[in-house]
Amino acid sequence: MSDVKLLVCGAFNEEERARFDANYPNVYAASPDDIAGVDADTRAGITAVVFKGHAPFGGAAMDPLENLGLIANFGVGYDAIDVDAANERGVKVTNTPDVLNDDVADLAVALMLTQTRNMIEGDNLTRSGRWAGGGSLPLNRKMTGGTVGICGLGRIGREIADRLAAFKMDIHYHSRSEKETPGWTYHADPKSLAEAVDWYVVALVGGKETEGYVSRDVINALGKNGVIINISRGTTIDEEAMLDALESGAIAGAGLDVFVNEPHLNERFYDLTNVVLQPHQGSGTHETRRAMAEVQLSNVTAFFNGDALVTPVN
Ligand code: NAP
Repeated sequence: MSDVKLLVCGAFNEEERARFDANYPNVYAASPDDIAGVDADTRAGITAVVFKGHAPFGGAAMDPLENLGLIANFGVGYDAIDVDAANERGVKVTNTPDVLNDDVADLAVALMLTQTRNMIEGDNLTRSGRWAGGGSLPLNRKMTGGTVGICGLGRIGREIADRLAAFKMDIHYHSRSEKETPGWTYHADPKSLAEAVDWYVVALVGGKETEGYVSRDVINALGKNGVIINISRGTTIDEEAMLDALESGAIAGAGLDVFVNEPHLNERFYDLTNVVLQPHQGSGTHETRRAMAEVQLSNVTAFFNGDALVTPVN
């Protein structure tokens, strides 16, 4: 049987691939759909997969690996992996929590400032020469001191709230249970949160359980001063309802890093001037991606050594 125990699956960069090569002999599959195409002898020896990306990784991709014991995900969000299917097959799943909290929270704040200070239009005005020609940017809305609601006060939501406290914002949040906070206002449901705030920052987990959690009703409750920020997953918001609200002026705007069906966005987004769009780059710094890779590899090493997994999901 082949001595290859590790399958590398997804859009890893050269540095990340080199790290796997230096540690373990491995084979590569571009996506979960390509796993069945690896030769049968090699597949039989594979016990661990390192995975990066958002392509669905379901039971059909696990079955060709008859001795699979671990899928180590690159990223905290593992909604692409069918964990029920993994459980049925006795496969463990790991993720990379915490090390990316700061970067994603930074991006959430950047989206808020970029949206409210109209910085994309400001840049266009300046570099196009329209400013020099007498053009000016319309006045913006102040962010410091505003009211903000965090929908999902988990690891990243908490970091966002901590940053916004420094912006002297009145902080509200919704989670399934009340948390210990420095006096932030708890809301038992996502709609009551929307009614109370102008800024609505979504930091929920993705996956089936939270699909459309920020519903049409919630979006409309936000009102015409409302701005939605989403750094979680496109699925957590009813995207069609959000587009309707952005087009009609039922809400003021949005700052978005994640989308349903990304990277192929609903084309209605492209005509909107009240949105700031980013290419799912929340954790995208050298430092954080390296830290995520280390957590991922530490799970693989623990698995091969028979030690307890570092950041297990199931
Ligand atoms: P987390 O610590 O697990 O927190 C997630 C929040 O979701 C918690 O507040 C939790 O509520 C809530 N939640 C979980 N299941 C729920 C359910 N069934 N119904 C309602 N609420 C539920 O996750 P995290 O590490 O902060 O990550 C947050 C999100 O950011 C994830 O979607 C992740 O994929 C995404 N993310 C995006 C990027 C990016 O590049 N944009 C990078 C990293 C992560 P409770 O407080 O009640 O437990």
